[in-house]
Amino acid sequence: MLTGIHFLLSYKCTYECDHCFVFSSPSAEGTFTAHQIRSALDEARKIGTITEIYFEGGEPTLFYPLLLEGTRMARAAGFNVGIVTNAYFATTEDDAALWLKPLKELGIADLSISDDAFHSDEKETPAKRALAAARKLGLPVGSICIEPPSVAANTARAKGEPIVGGGVMFRGRAVEKLAAGLPTRGWESFAECPHEELRDPGRVHLDPYGNVQLCQGLCIGNAWQTPLSTLVKNYDVAAHPIAGPLASGGPARLVREYDIPHEDGYVDACHLCFRARQALLDRFPQYLAPRQVYGIAA
Ligand code: SF4
Repeated sequence: MLTGIHFLLSYKCTYECDHCFVFSSPSAEGTFTAHQIRSALDEARKIGTITEIYFEGGEPTLFYPLLLEGTRMARAAGFNVGIVTNAYFATTEDDAALWLKPLKELGIADLSISDDAFHSDEKETPAKRALAAARKLGLPVGSICIEPPSVAANTARAKGEPIVGGGVMFRGRAVEKLAAGLPTRGWESFAECPHEELRDPGRVHLDPYGNVQLCQGLCIGNAWQTPLSTLVKNYDVAAHPIAGPLASGGPARLVREYDIPHEDGYVDACHLCFRARQALLDRFPQYLAPRQVYGIAA
């Protein structure tokens, strides 16, 4: 059941992390208007099952007044609100509190702070200062930690084949920056999507261009062309040219369905999925968007 709408408030970010799924960077452009957020929230209410709104990105606090207004509107409409940030603004703990106090006053239900080696290798990081400030304010806060990929023997798998740890999923920039040289598995072994409920999604992402995404760059349609509630109501995984094969047989099925040229092995299912979808970009532009998420300038 669809219970969450996640606004990708912008693809712009203060960082350009190697593991970023959506190729965010300081040079990415675009955000929502307040009117677009209000309309999308109205549509979210029409869906009838949505309880949770998230604001993420990119870095959503780069558009701080819009983030506050979006949060205020979502709270007034009765939704729980979560925010994901890298907390770049936390120059000191006291200054972090200046940014976080208004979010506390609006009653957000979750603040997730990216705090990992990709974002900073300092001991005392903005993320750690923001975590401390949030805890003092009594905000419900947690951290998201992704480490650079590490290779370990996998005793559970036949012949102790190596596995890649660290929590990176090989989508977006992670494919271009981190996949080279890592151990791979045969492409045919990736016979299911391990991370998304494509038959019955629990949440979708909405970006500033209207793309409604099941997974990064995999769309059910455009909410600026068809109302969000209609897109959700009409979504039929079996009729979706990309999600259909992925749901029934994973990225390997997608490759077979469209006879996509491929390597022998890939690091994980997302790695194969991302490469297969890249090969289909021009054929299914309405379902594989935005191109930003595939590393192609908008
Ligand atoms: S296999 Fe594809 S659809 Fe599934 S989580 Fe990975 S990238 Fe997304």
